[in-house]
Amino acid sequence: MSDKRVYFFGDGGADGDATMRNLLGGKGANLAEMTRLGVPVPPGFTITTAECADYQRTGKLSAELQAEVKAAMAQVEKVMGKRFADPADPLLFSVRSGARVSMPGMMDTVLNLGLNDDTVQGLAARSGNERFAYDSYRRLVQMYGDVVMGVSSELLEDAIDHLKEKRGVKLDTELSAQDLRDLIATFKGLIEKHAGRAFPYDPWEQLWGGVRAVFESWQVPRAKEYRRIHRISDEWGTAVNVQAMVFGNMGDSSATGVAFTRDPSTGENRFYGEFLINAQGEDVVAGTRTPQQINHAGRDAMPAGHEARTLPTLEDVMPGSYAELVAVRERLEKHYRNMQDVEFTIQEGRLWMLQTRSGKRTGVAAIRIAVEMEREGLVKADDALLLVEPDHLDQLLHDQIDPEAEIEVLASGLPASPGAAQGIIKFSAESAVEAADKGQAVVLVRRETSPEDIAGMNKARGILTSRGGMTSHAAVVARGMGKPCVAGCGEAFVNYETKTLTVAGRTFKEGDVITINGTTGAVIAGAPPLVPPRLDDPNLSRIMAWADAARRLKVRTNADTPHDARQAREFGAQGIGLCRTEHMFFGEDRIRRMRQMILAGDEASRREALEHVRPLQQADFDGILEAMSGLPVTIRLLDPPLHEFLPTGDKEIVELAGDLGVSADDIRRKIEELHESNPMLGHRGCRLGVTYPEIYEVQVEAIIGAAIAVKARGFDVRPEIMIPLIGTVRELAEMRQLCIATAERVIKAAGAKVEYLVGTMIEVPRAALTADEIATQADFFSFGTNDLTQMTFGFSRDDIAKFLPSYLAKGLLPTDPFQQLDQTGVGQLVEMAAQKGRRANPHLHLGICGEHGGDPSSIAFCHKVGLDYVSCSPFRVPIARLAAAQVAIREKQG
Ligand code: ADP
Ligand code: MG
Ligand code: MG
Repeated sequence: MSDKRVYFFGDGGADGDATMRNLLGGKGANLAEMTRLGVPVPPGFTITTAECADYQRTGKLSAELQAEVKAAMAQVEKVMGKRFADPADPLLFSVRSGARVSMPGMMDTVLNLGLNDDTVQGLAARSGNERFAYDSYRRLVQMYGDVVMGVSSELLEDAIDHLKEKRGVKLDTELSAQDLRDLIATFKGLIEKHAGRAFPYDPWEQLWGGVRAVFESWQVPRAKEYRRIHRISDEWGTAVNVQAMVFGNMGDSSATGVAFTRDPSTGENRFYGEFLINAQGEDVVAGTRTPQQINHAGRDAMPAGHEARTLPTLEDVMPGSYAELVAVRERLEKHYRNMQDVEFTIQEGRLWMLQTRSGKRTGVAAIRIAVEMEREGLVKADDALLLVEPDHLDQLLHDQIDPEAEIEVLASGLPASPGAAQGIIKFSAESAVEAADKGQAVVLVRRETSPEDIAGMNKARGILTSRGGMTSHAAVVARGMGKPCVAGCGEAFVNYETKTLTVAGRTFKEGDVITINGTTGAVIAGAPPLVPPRLDDPNLSRIMAWADAARRLKVRTNADTPHDARQAREFGAQGIGLCRTEHMFFGEDRIRRMRQMILAGDEASRREALEHVRPLQQADFDGILEAMSGLPVTIRLLDPPLHEFLPTGDKEIVELAGDLGVSADDIRRKIEELHESNPMLGHRGCRLGVTYPEIYEVQVEAIIGAAIAVKARGFDVRPEIMIPLIGTVRELAEMRQLCIATAERVIKAAGAKVEYLVGTMIEVPRAALTADEIATQADFFSFGTNDLTQMTFGFSRDDIAKFLPSYLAKGLLPTDPFQQLDQTGVGQLVEMAAQKGRRANPHLHLGICGEHGGDPSSIAFCHKVGLDYVSCSPFRVPIARLAAAQVAIREKQG
């Protein structure tokens, strides 16, 4: 390909802009955009993701690249008035990765490229600051050794600690220029020894090595793991940004920091940020020095006793730069019309912006920012709605600590990510994963977290760290995952050796239970009761009202009880898309009757047993139909294989035998008889109705009986009877006939009038393929995408855990098809069946009732293929409403 590989930015202009994030990565596109906006950005250039894709294929940098980089370099040199590799006054660079979407901490940046034993002297002479020059050189050798040459960062960190100990100092900043020189020599020795080659002297060699390392970092395990969790394609690749260095480590008039244009935790419209004087790059987020707040408001909002309360703010120490930063904040928010997360550096009093991107925020913050930005006139309602992600609502629907509960607050840290979490303490990511896989609730407790901990964080219920700020790795990642997190709890002492957490004079061991409240920052002993979230936040109501106005898809719920039905209705459900009747057969008396029915030798005794079940079922339907008055309720007739209702333990069998007055051996024989090799493909669904019509008959009697009774009480009932597991039109015709005959008989006997529908699930591929035939016998289709996925892939839903991880790790599947609808395969069946069905029966209603009904990308698919509704669990209903609105808005906006 002969396309352009290098995009320059600097001096008020840029080759790229914010729309080019696929090619330039988010960081590169926004550096270009900020430059165009006139925001002060050090000049540089971006190497495209297309080059990365080629590199992944060939393992080589392209021939075109060399010349384009040289040309862009000359442009930067011109703007800066310095030259790269100039021993008298060297221009230095950072090499930064930047994929299409931000992947915090995943890709490593190398700063101060271009320094060597000669150029460092030029830097020292020109800056008049020898310590600064050697600090920069030290950082380069350290980062380069780690990121590019693969020497363990711990080894290098140990060398620093060792030297600090020897000198009797605590902070890096206390090391002298001579100390740093010694350290550089130590680092170089370590690098030669462990990498088998020397740290490169030649700045160009450094640069190309850095570029290659960024491309290679796309494939490191932690980057892959992050992509897997966040469903980011392996194909996208990363861009490389090569940017002139500015220095926050030039002394006390220099600083570096990060900020959010609004509070990322609460969404409050206040400028929020942290910084460190005389520091560079990641120092702020590394958690080694306690960062200072940029303004008084931020300092005053810190919890009592937090060290940051005693430290001066940027507003105090550099009022001019702070004012400039405030102006940049306004400029960026107006332009991007979204909350931004920025990085800045102040070099000897001069402000430089190094990054902007839309800031990660909590659910509460997301809805508040969206509503307030609309009110401030920054965005229209449709765009405001796009500022809220479905996952944000998920967080809002998290548990909280029961306000009535007596709790013992041990200490307070930063409220880094909201919601309450409780579980047993685990001190390492691996042990957290291990325990969580055994079904235990875990709180991961660390001094600080790093990208290696991603898997453990993902499995933990919540995260507690003793170090770091609101922008620490733990805080950022937890917010992204929507997990409760308390960060930087300085009063908590974590000892990895003894595996203990000491706080408020108490010592907790691994396995002890604690609770964290990520909304307040509290660390709490034991497990106080949690309560489900409330949905009466006015910001949420406003968002939901916008969503309801924008969407076309209806949202129903899956609910089996009147309680769930009422809850879902509060969440905005427009009916029930799936009411499973099998749950109604459990419980003391019911299961006994059910077992009696199954074990009965003939129809008459089956009917007798069912006679006892019917009134109980009818009472359940009664409650559900009343709770859903005015809305449709789809009730599925019995679906699971019968053996699921029989006892398995010997004790239970003997008990049942006594109960029914038969011998235990008879029961064992019957269980043996009902045993199937492939129960999921066995005697279940409508096959039960075919062999034991009386089961379905009794269920229909109960449904229609309830409908008549509820209607007589003045409610508006809309029952929809759904036949599961249909594969052929004949099957359906037979079952439909049975349902209608039964319903009409009941209606006639009662002298009542009730409307009802009879339809089917589409979950067997053959039904989808012959949907035109099936539709002639159905008032509605409901896509049962769990079974449809199972049967289309031939993946057993119950056994997939054994091989799915390998499929995901090898990229053989992009995501778990039971969570995210496989649009190309299973989706094709859905789309085709919808079209064929509608053509054959224009009155056909179409919906989906699998787990996918609550998954945003699957919901978008359902919208596109023209379904009428999705159905999901009660707590996902608000999320589905938002996702349905967003797909409609995006479609409208084109
Ligand atoms: P990440 O994507 O992990 O945030 P970045 O590329 O943004 O990595 O860089 C890491 C740190 O180095 C950030 O604090 C950033 O501001 C700083 N940095 C990057 N390039 C420069 C530069 N040219 N001058 C000064 N600081 C820089
Ligand atoms: Mg960054
Ligand atoms: Mg099914």
